Amino acid sequence: MPLTLSLSPRAGRGNAVDSPRLGPVTPIGCNRSPSPRKRGEGWGEGQPALTTHYALRYVARMTTPFRFDPLELPPECEALRLEVRAFLAEELAAERWSPNSDFGSHRGADFSARLGARGWIGMTWPKKYGGGERSFLERYTVTEELLAAGAPVGSHWIADRQSGPLLLRYGSEAQREEFLPGITRGETFFSIGMSEPDSGSDLASIRTRATPVCGGYEVTGAKVWTSYAHESHYAITLVRTAPLDAKNRHAGLSQLILDLKAPGVSIRPIINQAGEHDFNEMVLDRVFIPSERLVGQEGDGWKQVTSELAFERSGPERFLSAHQVLRALVAAGGDNPDPLLLDALGRMTAQLWTLRQMSLSVAGMLQAGELPNLEAALVKDLGNAFERSVPERARTLVPRRRRAEIDGFDGALRETVLYAPSWTLRGGTREILRGIIARGLGLR
Ligand SMILES: Cc1cc2nc3c(=O)[nH]c(=O)nc-3n(C[C@H](O)[C@H](O)[C@H](O)COP(=O)(O)OP(=O)(O)OC[C@H]3O[C@@H](n4cnc5c(N)ncnc54)[C@H](O)[C@@H]3O)c2cc1C
Repeated sequence: MPLTLSLSPRAGRGNAVDSPRLGPVTPIGCNRSPSPRKRGEGWGEGQPALTTHYALRYVARMTTPFRFDPLELPPECEALRLEVRAFLAEELAAERWSPNSDFGSHRGADFSARLGARGWIGMTWPKKYGGGERSFLERYTVTEELLAAGAPVGSHWIADRQSGPLLLRYGSEAQREEFLPGITRGETFFSIGMSEPDSGSDLASIRTRATPVCGGYEVTGAKVWTSYAHESHYAITLVRTAPLDAKNRHAGLSQLILDLKAPGVSIRPIINQAGEHDFNEMVLDRVFIPSERLVGQEGDGWKQVTSELAFERSGPERFLSAHQVLRALVAAGGDNPDPLLLDALGRMTAQLWTLRQMSLSVAGMLQAGELPNLEAALVKDLGNAFERSVPERARTLVPRRRRAEIDGFDGALRETVLYAPSWTLRGGTREILRGIIARGLGLR
């Protein structure tokens, strides 16, 4: 039987740690101290060799600040999954787009509008703003199917994942009424204006200044790496509304909704190493932004920005960027896969599945109204490491001649190799994420 790779409705049931073989153990993240060691469980001198069995039990019982409660998708998600698959099959049969690897690299306003018409943008938002009042888990299901199929989701991605939820949490009623319905129809697109030429990881050092003027703010400064600013309508832009206070660097920041067509906004392309125009440099020269476009409270920008991070870092886009290559690898196995390839595929699938369970668990916490930034940082760091490893393994496992025989293999590999270096930068670098994780573990 040929190998297949699918986020199958029946697969992945149960908790890997709480398996019948291991016996019941406390789920990872329950805030309990390890029970006293029993014979054979310890790592000390003179103890029997540590088996995987005991290692898993020990790790599961450790006190840890991370919570990854096991989560099973409810039946409505599996019904929805089949609906999304049918839609995607129809789109592919009509050759409306071809599968791409990276969620940010391909986009189409037409595709976003078709998705909006199905109710698959702003799925969790209130109906009065055009949303579907569906669960985060249903949204998760739609997202992972779109990404696994390589659909061109880039245009509405930021608005759906980040800007809309931010407006729902901190925006005014007028802002929600003005912006959310257009986002859910797949017609209004947003960018993120955080990074600046000298401020990336250290966001608190941004220098773009918003000076109060009659009826609003006058904004001057420069933003960089602003994805899709040339195609979006608005950018939620982080600005300084008060001078930097060395004792409290996070104070004095605010978020403004910037109209990307406003006078004084210049958007210049930055071409990435794949030769594509995805991100930009934005120069803001005395741009007027009305006070109604302030999101939340003036000075609360830092708190608001960090609340976006769990949405930004934990989704399946953090481990599915190389999915087309993984699919091609499965196809390369054919009916009689080489043992080396089979072994590698087994390992990769296990890693993918673990990441998915972790990411799902974060989705469950978001559903419960929590802000699991620590867990999200871990999902992104491990997810990025996994997705960066896939093209490397593909290159060594399948000879070039064989790759040329498999539909889409070379193209997906080329695209993935060119985009992979950016995965550990966008949304927070590896070092920054590991710093957050270390702090969460009490190590710094
Ligand atoms: C594809 C892509 C899309 C992007 N889209 C957007 C967007 O739409 N909007 C937006 O605002 N930004 C965007 N960014 C920018 C991204 O958020 C930044 O690149 C990222 O935050 C890193 O900032 P930097 O590039 O200034 O690097 P720096 O912060 O200068 O970091 C350089 C290196 O130093 C390390 N480093 C920095 N500080 C520390 C520290 N304290 N401890 C240890 N190591 C450290 C970093 O890990 C990194 O390796 C995008 C980036 C990419 C690659």
